[in-house]
Formats: sequence, structure tokens, C-alpha cells
Amino acid sequence: MRIRTVKAIYPRWNRPLSDAWQSHFWQIVVVVTTECGRTGYGYGGGGEPAVQVVNSHLSRFLTGRTLEGVADIRAAWQALYRASLPYGRGGLAMMALSGVDLALWDLLGRARNQPVCELLDGGRVPGVRAYASGLAFETYRDMGFEAVKVFHRWREPADYDRTEALIAKAREVMGTEALVMLDCYMSWNAETAVEMQKRLAPYNVYWFEDILTPDHKRELAELKPQLAPVLSAGGEHEFTLDGYRALAKANSLDIWQPDVTWCGGLTGALDILALAKNSGIPVCLHRGGEPWGLHLIAGSDCLALAELVGPDRRDGTVQAWQGFPKLVDGHLHVADRTGFGVEPDPALPA
Ligand SMILES: [Mg+2]
Repeated sequence: MRIRTVKAIYPRWNRPLSDAWQSHFWQIVVVVTTECGRTGYGYGGGGEPAVQVVNSHLSRFLTGRTLEGVADIRAAWQALYRASLPYGRGGLAMMALSGVDLALWDLLGRARNQPVCELLDGGRVPGVRAYASGLAFETYRDMGFEAVKVFHRWREPADYDRTEALIAKAREVMGTEALVMLDCYMSWNAETAVEMQKRLAPYNVYWFEDILTPDHKRELAELKPQLAPVLSAGGEHEFTLDGYRALAKANSLDIWQPDVTWCGGLTGALDILALAKNSGIPVCLHRGGEPWGLHLIAGSDCLALAELVGPDRRDGTVQAWQGFPKLVDGHLHVADRTGFGVEPDPALPA
């Protein structure tokens, strides 16, 4: 099939934008059509600048290209990477490229009448355990979650007590068997991390996430053994194989968390997974409970643990797409549909 159009859209999210990047993730929708009348949908990051990158630049390298298999997606990825290299390689440009890449995988799945996970070597696994990210612990427990990630940002020394109270509550509500993780979104320094590890030791926290910035690779590597048995997780701000090569070389983290809609799409994530396997580092996808991550978990040897951010709310990604996987007994299942199994909500204002 031959690609006819590539178009990115920035949905006007019904949740008000704030200065916090994370409140709505700045996600974009990418729509690819073919001359034979097929459509593929992708999801990327980077907001309006990424829409510009796709519509004003990347799209011209795809129009007229043929797409028959995975090798063609890889070739397209390389062409887009090279075209955007002077201003890209990561950040907004790679988030834009990710959306295009995922649309191509969706297109291929639909053309072959297969879910994307079945296009991958790993085939297809049944339900994936989900974890909820947020602070509504009682609601998550009642929804069936058995794992939770607590959000916290360091501001002042009183946050030692506040964080301990939050984690104690999470443990109490979710029970002794539940996984409890903590994400401080790059707001700690090494001293804070070590003190938190001591304070939170009674609560059996599985991992600390985004402890320092991604530019503190050496410092993270030095800190990591001091935090054991708590694992050091991160990687949502890292892009492509090259970014992860640097993480591997520095031995910065115990768990890698690429985001498939940011790190270079499924094509980029597959390269990162291969490196992780060679490096003996487990991968637990960032926002892996959304269809794009879930298909990769189902079709690979990623950790079978899928993140849903704020699953008690109907906003953001859940608002934008139809066919989102439903949570059953704390697990998510890849839908019996072709591609990634989702389509943008026709009511989505764009
Ligand atoms: Mg995070």
C-alpha cells in the first residue's frame, strides 16, 4: 500500500492546561491514510510544536512511500530520524516521530488483519497486571488494582513526613501483598533519596522513580547501591537506542521505563528492549497500560506490569480514544481488534 497523507492533530483536552507538562502529557494524534483507503492512527508527544514537526516536515518524507512490512516501517523511521537529526534525535522531534511510527504500525496491523502484538516476535500473552499512578488509593483498590505508584514532589524538609504518611497510607489501603512504588519526578538529590530510603524502609517500596534528572547518569549510578533493596527506575525522559546506550554504559538504573509514544515509537522501543536484554536490565514501560504500550508488553519480554495514570478519571488519553482496554480483576487484556485496537473519538475537539 502507498501512503497518501500524514497529519498530526493536537486535541483540545477538556482538562485545563496548566504549567505542569504531566497533567495532560501534551499528547498528539497522528493519522496516516493510504491510496487504497486504509487509515492508521498513532499517538505521540510534544504538543503543538510536534504537530508542526509532523505536518510541516516529517510528512513530506512519507507521502508516496510504500508500506508492506516491518522492514518498511524501519526504513521510514530511519528516513525521518535522518531528516530531523539537525534539530531532533530526542525531545519534541522524537515525540513527533513516535506518533508517526505508531500510526505506521497500526496501519500494518490493520492491513494484515492482526493486532500489533502479533506482528512482534513475542506473540501474544494473556492479561497484564496493571498499576495505578496517583493518590486515590481507596478508589484504585476498589477498582481491583493490586499495585500503585504514589506521586510526590520534594519542596521542603517537611516532605519527609508528608511522603512517609502518603506511603504508609498507600501500604495500609492496598495491603501487604500490593506493589507500592514512588515517583518523585526528578525532585530529589542524593541526600534526600538516601534519607527517604531509610524513612520508607518499613513500607517495602518496590522502586523509586525519576530520582535525579536524566543528565545525572553518573550520580544515579553512585546512588543506586545505597538505595537497595529499593530499585532505581527511570527513563521516560530518554530517547532512542542512543539515549539508552548512555544509560547502560553509566549503569544508572535498575529498571528502564521508556515511553513508547515518546522514545521513538514501537520501532525505537524494540531497539531499546534488545539493548536491555543484552544488558540484563528489565524494562517496565512508562504508561504501559495504554494500548500502544500494552501491545508491546503483550508481544515482548517487558515486565508484565502496565501503568495507568489516574485511572479513576475520564480525561486525557482515555477521553481521546475509543476502544481503550478495560480493567478486569486488576489486569488489562489486548483487545481482539486489528492494529492497536483504538480509534480517536470522533467527538474529540481538534
Ligand atoms: Mg514517572
